[in-house]
Amino acid sequence: MLVYDVIIVGAGLSGLSAAHYLLEQEPDLRVLIVEARDRVGGRLLTQTLDVENAKVHCDLGGQWVSKKQTHIMDMLELLDIGTYKQYTEGSSFIQIKDKVYTYNGIVPWDMSWLGLIELQYHIWRIDGFAKQIDLEKPWEHARAKEWDAITVQAYIDKMWTAQARDMFTLLCLTVCACEPNEISFFCLIVSVTEVGGINAMIDNDDDGAQDSKIEGGAQLVCTKLAERLQKKHVEIVLDSPVQLIENTQSNYQGMFKVTTPQKIYQSKFVVMALSPLLSSRIECKPALPSYRDQFCQRTPMACCIKTVTYFKTAWWRDDKASGTFMTLDVEKYPLTNGMDGTINNSIVGFILGNKARYWSTKTKQERQDAIVVQFAEMYNKSCKFIEEQLIVYEDMDWGMEQYTRGAFDTIFGCGLIVNFKDAITDPIGNLHYAGAETATRWSGYMSGAVEAGERVADEILDKI
Ligand SMILES: Cc1cc2nc3c(=O)[nH]c(=O)nc-3n(C[C@H](O)[C@H](O)[C@H](O)COP(=O)(O)OP(=O)(O)OC[C@H]3O[C@@H](n4cnc5c(N)ncnc54)[C@H](O)[C@@H]3O)c2cc1C
Repeated sequence: MLVYDVIIVGAGLSGLSAAHYLLEQEPDLRVLIVEARDRVGGRLLTQTLDVENAKVHCDLGGQWVSKKQTHIMDMLELLDIGTYKQYTEGSSFIQIKDKVYTYNGIVPWDMSWLGLIELQYHIWRIDGFAKQIDLEKPWEHARAKEWDAITVQAYIDKMWTAQARDMFTLLCLTVCACEPNEISFFCLIVSVTEVGGINAMIDNDDDGAQDSKIEGGAQLVCTKLAERLQKKHVEIVLDSPVQLIENTQSNYQGMFKVTTPQKIYQSKFVVMALSPLLSSRIECKPALPSYRDQFCQRTPMACCIKTVTYFKTAWWRDDKASGTFMTLDVEKYPLTNGMDGTINNSIVGFILGNKARYWSTKTKQERQDAIVVQFAEMYNKSCKFIEEQLIVYEDMDWGMEQYTRGAFDTIFGCGLIVNFKDAITDPIGNLHYAGAETATRWSGYMSGAVEAGERVADEILDKI
């Protein structure tokens, strides 16, 4: 039986990047990528839709990139893939219950002055905490234990004004796709350190995370990378969920056997290029150290249904609206937030956290109907107008995807960072861990997925 040097589990952006960086330095390595789905890309999914006789690329997974995300930007340049700016012109709004705040830029100036001051104070405060964190060892910060013992909700509960509380709840939902009571406050601080400030997370212009989109759709990065790797004789097998990883030695330094329903493969190294939760679904023999399994038991995925709605015209732009909105505590509205799709007269929307769990129990048609009502009410139009404008509605419930199980990424609950430290990246013998979650910059983002691929390739090349 052929023995590969490295088997990579998962042909998402991180697994493909790992293969790319391995081959860049050691072109003769025999690398196999084993993927459960019938496609590459994982959380990057671009569907080609027929919208009024035109083929459009519809991103149902990750889509935005920014200049600050250097790893993904370098990868785009390598693959000769362009980007285009997110459309942001016009006014945006935030609806909280029946109160509507409008804004241009990122701050709704019609909030109360006290609310605005408190909001800004906490942004500065958390940015200040974030600057003190050493990303190599965040758990060593003097206040790590204290911060990791409380949820973001507990921090929010201490705020004075309802407006600051609401805005931070929206920040948590839209950036982390989870409720503030699900995630550790320390995790939020570390995430802010990773990206260089709260504004970098929420901005949709200049250097913010929503600055630009990928021409041809984000999955193109993976399809092009896969083609390039195959030309370099990397094998990629699809439709092959890995079920079992065995090693001949208890310290995982012997030969690996990787079992899929169709075939068993052998290698000297294995890279798990998937989220911790999914990695823990693969049986390992001998059993992994308990700290790794215990860690994975505590890593649920966040919850998101992404929607894209195509219209005959970009009617909101005629009303000088940017298409950007956020909503909170409006029970009948499915979408927590949305933005102009920039091309093809579309609005991209996100159903997040508890709302995603609720709307996941409904049909796609029921979600579409409720979103029509939401657009009509938010933009002061009739449902008939929205229905007549609507051409195609598409959505993706990531929680229902067996090989993802939720989005955008892993939620770090209380105690995870301080109790488990670097368990997320710590190799076990020659079993290594990549995946967007394991990055030290922009973890959970495309850029983090590429960075993790590079790190894991370096780890293996050091040993070889
Ligand atoms: C709705 C949504 C919006 C997002 N928005 C953005 C954004 O705007 N900007 C941004 O930068 N990032 C965004 N992200 C995050 C980004 O998409 C991810 O960080 C990145 O794609 C993760 O890549 P990965 O390779 O680490 O993991 P994945 O893409 O999850 O890849 C893991 C791969 O492993 C495969 N797999 C699972 N189990 C097995 C098994 N047993 N055997 C073999 N293969 C297996 C999966 O099928 C998958 O292909 C978003 C994600 C989603 C879902």
